[in-house]
Amino acid sequence: MFDERKPAPHTSSRASRSLSLQPARAKPGGTTTTTKPGAAARPEVSQPRPSARARVRRTLGQVLPEAAVSTIGTTLAKAQIKTHSVLGDPMQFGRASLARECPLCGHRGRFWSHGTPPRSEAMCPRCLSLERHRLLHLLVDAHQPTAFDGRDVLHFAPEGCIRDRLAQISRYVTADLSGRGVDLQCAMEAIPFPDGAIDTVIANHVLEHVDDDIVAMREVRRVLKPGGMAILSVPIIHGWDETYEDRTIVAPADRRTHFGQEDHKRMYGRDFSDRLRRAGFGVEIFRADPASEIRYGLRRGDQFFLARPDRPAATTEV
Ligand SMILES: [Zn+2]
Repeated sequence: MFDERKPAPHTSSRASRSLSLQPARAKPGGTTTTTKPGAAARPEVSQPRPSARARVRRTLGQVLPEAAVSTIGTTLAKAQIKTHSVLGDPMQFGRASLARECPLCGHRGRFWSHGTPPRSEAMCPRCLSLERHRLLHLLVDAHQPTAFDGRDVLHFAPEGCIRDRLAQISRYVTADLSGRGVDLQCAMEAIPFPDGAIDTVIANHVLEHVDDDIVAMREVRRVLKPGGMAILSVPIIHGWDETYEDRTIVAPADRRTHFGQEDHKRMYGRDFSDRLRRAGFGVEIFRADPASEIRYGLRRGDQFFLARPDRPAATTEV
């Protein structure tokens, strides 16, 4: 639901690995309908016109196999992202740059600009990973045996460039409020799983979008198993002691002005850890060392919050 977070397109053909995870409640906003016996037929509701992309996909699907259509779509989407990088920062290739290394795809060389305004050397030109995707990959490396291998993993707004790896090593379920391209449509404040069902929850740059982040944090804590872990990140203004939030600001343009993006509901300060503790978590910080930040083209000081429900409520760095 947030384009900037998901530069790497993915195919929806990957089968769900949700073999052991069965939602306990109907998904919020679900589209289930029932017709009472004898009830009068409802008038037909006009359907929204499909997007141009959907119409092209449907046309191609009439003459090509689904796999070919998916490949064409992915290729075009990647070309669009790379074109945006070139047009957004055409001088980038004239600047000197270090050779970087992408831990996701193995690319070695220049990274490309990404974002508005463009961030220099942010995107791997091969797999289109961004800084936080590469940091997440390093985090998975560090915690794979305990948090991922064979575990029940729930990933909100999954990053396309890492979901295949997670699907291969864990029992993996993806979720998003929009329901597009994921296994499960749900809000983070109402997760349709029973208590203690999930080993690892991942939600990167999601909490700034939800209506009530404390409710969402408590809901994540509820579904985690004893010993489980939530991997969370949000944009933080490190110069602020407290999070800036005003629920009377609802117009998209006003939210962009106040919170940095049209669909952001707040802008976090350094008290993000305190909010997690209020929700009942103990918190650790995961970040790469300075040399790794250079090597893998990470944002300096970028961090993930590892929230565990069964740890003492203290913040420590790892
Ligand atoms: Zn890469």
